[in-house]
Amino acid sequence: VKEQGKNSFQFYTPDMNEMVSKKMKLEIGLRKGLERGEFHVFYQPQVDIISGNVIGLEALIRWQHPEWGVISPAEFIPLAEETGLIIPIGEWVLYEACRQSKTWQNEGYPPLRMAVNISSRQFQQSNLLEVISKTLKETGLDPQYLELELTESIIQDSKYAISTMQQLKTMGIHLSIDDFGTGYSSLSYLKLFPIDTLKIDRSFTSNIFVDSKDAALVHTIINMAHNLDLKVIAEGVESQEQLHFLEQRQCNQAQGYLFSRPISTDEMSVFLKEHYSR
Ligand code: C2E
Ligand code: CA
Ligand code: CA
Ligand code: CA
Repeated sequence: VKEQGKNSFQFYTPDMNEMVSKKMKLEIGLRKGLERGEFHVFYQPQVDIISGNVIGLEALIRWQHPEWGVISPAEFIPLAEETGLIIPIGEWVLYEACRQSKTWQNEGYPPLRMAVNISSRQFQQSNLLEVISKTLKETGLDPQYLELELTESIIQDSKYAISTMQQLKTMGIHLSIDDFGTGYSSLSYLKLFPIDTLKIDRSFTSNIFVDSKDAALVHTIINMAHNLDLKVIAEGVESQEQLHFLEQRQCNQAQGYLFSRPISTDEMSVFLKEHYSR
């Protein structure tokens, strides 16, 4: 930015300059972070509400910068998407999560489905199917234990999305719609897309007892999903009361701090050992 002289940025206020340079720092940091292995995958359990059993894990990326400390994905994922760095980052998370899932299976833990977030930019990569099949082959993970969490934004190009999803389904992979209901998209895609699960966004779950409209929406999403033969998982479940509400309305699964925060591989190994020895 410096070399370009001040005239080319005359429409920038000092604040904007600061924002641009913060963004550039972050972008350079992301590139270096990938090389230096500063990223980690944390895991959060997904629980079957009726049995109380852990049936899946969601992989959530963490960035531990040597000077800046832990940086939240909410802060760097949008920039990674903008710069395209989400492609190598996303591929790394996918590989790492599949590898770890297979490791736990090899160690004798009951097989759990591993849910991995796929950003729309990643979903739109022409080699997505190759990357996924290569990852499954190299890690040895059976496709039935992989779930991809997709957001409604992939619908932009619905022909491509449907055909890609159909191929993923043919491979035996599970598909869910993340942050369901926050994307301002029409509902008609639900009949076109071969998905397995709707994931109710935390913004609805956390308001169940705050706003009766959110409670009504949660109830309606559950019923709609079941009428369409889909499973429903609620994210952001923090209290027994919320879990009870969801249970009474036949929500299938829940995820949230009530069960566990996202935790490291080692912590998850301990968590799972305790869970299965109950
Ligand atoms: P998300 O996919 O909707 O993930 C759920 C977020 O809610 C996670 O935040 C999780 O830590 C948090 N959460 C889970 N349970 C609770 C709860 O009970 N209460 C509260 N307050 N929060 C809860 P996190 O890990 O900071 O991730 C934020 C977002 O960053 C994710 O939202 C996802 O959109 C994105 N992200 C994280 N990892 C990846 C990744 O590997 N790839 C991509 N493309 N995006 C990722
Ligand atoms: Ca997610
Ligand atoms: Ca969410
Ligand atoms: Ca999300």
